[in-house]
Amino acid sequence: MKYSALSLAWNALSGHTRWKPAWRDPAPRPQYDVVICGGGGHGLATAHYLAKVHGLTRIAVLEKGWIGSGNAGRNTTIIRSNYLLPENEPFYEWSMKLWEGLEQDLNYNAMVSQRGVLNLYHSDAQRDAYARRGNAMRLNGADAELLDEAAVRRMLPFLDYENARFPIQGGLLQRRGGTARHDAVVWGYARAADGRGVDIIQNCEVTSIRTRNGRVEGVETTRGFIAAEKVGLALAGSTSLVASSAGLRLPIESHVLQAFVSEGIKPFIDTVVTYGAGHFYISQSDKGGLVFGGDIDGYNSYAQRGGLPIIEDVCEAGMALMPRIGRVRLLRLWGGIMDMSMDGSPIIDTTPVKGLYLNTGWNYGGFKATPASGWCFAHLIATGAPHWTARGYRLDRFATGYVADEKGVGAQPNLH
Ligand SMILES: Cc1cc2nc3c(=O)[nH]c(=O)nc-3n(C[C@H](O)[C@H](O)[C@H](O)COP(=O)(O)OP(=O)(O)OC[C@H]3O[C@@H](n4cnc5c(N)ncnc54)[C@H](O)[C@@H]3O)c2cc1C
Repeated sequence: MKYSALSLAWNALSGHTRWKPAWRDPAPRPQYDVVICGGGGHGLATAHYLAKVHGLTRIAVLEKGWIGSGNAGRNTTIIRSNYLLPENEPFYEWSMKLWEGLEQDLNYNAMVSQRGVLNLYHSDAQRDAYARRGNAMRLNGADAELLDEAAVRRMLPFLDYENARFPIQGGLLQRRGGTARHDAVVWGYARAADGRGVDIIQNCEVTSIRTRNGRVEGVETTRGFIAAEKVGLALAGSTSLVASSAGLRLPIESHVLQAFVSEGIKPFIDTVVTYGAGHFYISQSDKGGLVFGGDIDGYNSYAQRGGLPIIEDVCEAGMALMPRIGRVRLLRLWGGIMDMSMDGSPIIDTTPVKGLYLNTGWNYGGFKATPASGWCFAHLIATGAPHWTARGYRLDRFATGYVADEKGVGAQPNLH
């Protein structure tokens, strides 16, 4: 069913009782050409591009709960391509380009809103680092503007400029950055993939990977064994658990990251702002809630909820930046299980097990990567070769030492 103004009007006439489900609910078949484990944005996008770009049809996406119940439906929805390293910037800029055409591609309103992303700087050294990053972005075809304090004041007059412990000196602005509605991205990819024959199987947990003579045979699931020539893992914080059943020990730690939403208030933040002297980022949703977050909790966990200390930490950073939010009430908070890699960059690669492919290490930046991650993972699975924008995302970089450490902080997930 194509969504359009006409179909909306037509269905209104019948009281909206004739809409068909956006995707089917098929029983798993005994065998597929490709099985993607994980029904988050990355898994579903991979299935979509495998079908659309590479013409594969016998594909299943296996999800242990409901699609989008992982990080895809739990993030603060920021999209941007403001990276420094040659391993990262072309990839994230490719993702940004895919975001810009996504709604037309999927025929689905993913509420992609290019409202801008502004990273504030608070010292001369930080300004120089941002100038360098902005130059790297522009060399890769992305947009970047370095603003001074007066320009930031004009844009965001409500920040604390007078009494701040770390005075705001300016910011690096990417106007094409912004937000997208996370659930809608999941639903849009699911609907488009289903429309091309992909089986999306919910309530189907992958319990282990079956291998023979170093080759993948399929996956054991809570709904029985499913044979597959190729298996792709897109399980975020659970990737290392499932991969261990195939004998792989990954350079990934699972950590909790929390997100926060306030009560709805009148619109006053029309962009995404990040604090440069602490870990805090904020935007305002279309319903008026302030959507914000900060650091990971800092301990390993598989729980989708976090602890109290980080709430205080994040709110303190928010108050330091914009004291006027002090009387806004916090409405909701939750956590997601992050797949933190040891250099802060992702892995999209083959594995020592033939037919087993890996998509992980998204840290807290994987939502913005969803389209390119799906595109590049599909490319790898279909052709056996990495897409040119994802060439640096090799698994063996942790053995060879050619890491892609964007922040230069080493194997310290809390600092990435
Ligand atoms: C609080 C928070 C804020 C964030 N903010 C941002 C942001 O602003 N911008 C940004 O770019 N990124 C952000 N991120 C990161 C981003 O959400 C993730 O990197 C991205 O969504 C990862 O997508 P995914 O599809 O790989 O993972 P997920 O959406 O987690 O998908 C993995 C799926 O696998 C399923 N699964 C797990 N184990 C099994 C199993 N054994 N069998 C079958 N299925 C299984 C899970 O249920 C889940 O649905 C944030 C994350 C969190 C938690």
